[in-house]
Amino acid sequence: MNGYSLFRRSRLRLAFWYAGVMGVILSVSGFGIYRAVMQSNWAAMEREIESIAGTLHDSVEPLLPASEAPTAVLRQIFPDLCLSEQPCNATPTLIQRHTIGISDRSTYYIRLFNHQGNLLAFSPNQPPWLSKTLDRAPWKTFRRANGIRYHQFTTILHSANAHHQANEPNVHSSWGYLQIGRTLEPFDAETKRIRWILAIGFPIALLLVAVSSWWLSGLAMQPIYQSYQQQQQFTANAAHELRSPLASLLATVEAILHLPLSHQHDVPMMLHTVERQGRRLSYLIADLLFLTSLEQNSGVKPFQPCCLNDLVSDLTEEFLEFAIASEIHLTNQIPTQSIYVLGHESQLYRLVSNLIANAIQYTPVGGSVVVSLDSHDHMTSIRVQDTGIGIAPSEQPRIFDRFYRVESDRSRKTGGTGLGLAIAQTITYLHKGHLVVKSDTGQGSLFTVHLPYLQRYPVTTKAPFSS
Ligand code: ADP
Repeated sequence: MNGYSLFRRSRLRLAFWYAGVMGVILSVSGFGIYRAVMQSNWAAMEREIESIAGTLHDSVEPLLPASEAPTAVLRQIFPDLCLSEQPCNATPTLIQRHTIGISDRSTYYIRLFNHQGNLLAFSPNQPPWLSKTLDRAPWKTFRRANGIRYHQFTTILHSANAHHQANEPNVHSSWGYLQIGRTLEPFDAETKRIRWILAIGFPIALLLVAVSSWWLSGLAMQPIYQSYQQQQQFTANAAHELRSPLASLLATVEAILHLPLSHQHDVPMMLHTVERQGRRLSYLIADLLFLTSLEQNSGVKPFQPCCLNDLVSDLTEEFLEFAIASEIHLTNQIPTQSIYVLGHESQLYRLVSNLIANAIQYTPVGGSVVVSLDSHDHMTSIRVQDTGIGIAPSEQPRIFDRFYRVESDRSRKTGGTGLGLAIAQTITYLHKGHLVVKSDTGQGSLFTVHLPYLQRYPVTTKAPFSS
């Protein structure tokens, strides 16, 4: 399987899982919201019925007659209700009086039963098919054949006299029952509307989640894919870099093996070539290992305060011999105050020595290299400036890439592995700094390492010196 298809499959899998998880979260929360809305609507509707029943109950109860046959009195109290077994032509204004503020007053009906459960009176808008005998359950929901549902509330009524007579035998404590009901048509229509919204909205939301999860998984895979490609490129470059000196080394060894006896005096020179190639391989491998250990940040001790004045001074002194051999004028400029940064001394040595080595290598005979140190705005700067061949602006973004060389032939000649600046940049990043280059072809180069400084101490100076 090639890398691209592996990443495509991983992206698909990531998108699938993301969409799946989001789908489950969406459905659970959608269902939860639906249930909560339905329950609160239902509770509000029951509260409304109860409040109407309560109002009616309180206003009617004091007027109720004690009589077992209250027809005449009921007609006086409830002129708007139809009496059971009698012709009905009343208009439903009573229920309207008690349902002020309710948007659809015709949805409510009222019924009165005696204590035996026989229907005494009812509002004209009651569903005609309702049973004339009482169902004593406080709440009841029923459905008509056409699918319309009704919800009704039954409460007990006491007459004023019944309260007094409650302790007497054969006298019922209740006068009868008041029943308030309503159609659930608006409620069911609202439920249906919410279900439709969910039924249409949910697949659309899922589709959007699927599309966005594909896009997001692409975004998530992008840096991994890039790093995978870089890794592949790095492996290919490393193999290429290792192959060239190895091939040349093997060729030299083979030539030595097949050298006629008459040419034996050439052997020491050829062995030198072998040694040079072997050393180059060894440097390359050491650089590769060092870069890998830097990136893995493994086995690293905690940062320590490092004095940059000492570091720059020591390195200038170290490179002095090389500079003299290369006929380069190497100088340093170190401030009187000690400048400290937090870091690993050995890594910082490696960083600055790579820059100085490059400056000397890429500066023609008679040129100069200046290493300077200063600090400002909570940052310290180590500058390595040369009067060398310079780097074209188009090349500058690439010189920090591993194995990249502007002039590979010249670079190989100088023994460069193409890893020097990559190592320098990695060390700078690890020290929370940044490395910048200013250069132009034939104008020389200026490499500046900016590092967050730790402290400035007053004196401690090492005298600047020059080659
Ligand atoms: P190398 O080991 O080849 O020097 P580096 O990573 O140190 O590799 O540098 C990468 C490339 O950047 C070099 O091949 C060289 O062309 C260019 N370069 C680095 N430093 C300088 C400099 N001071 N002047 C001119 N070119 C430079």
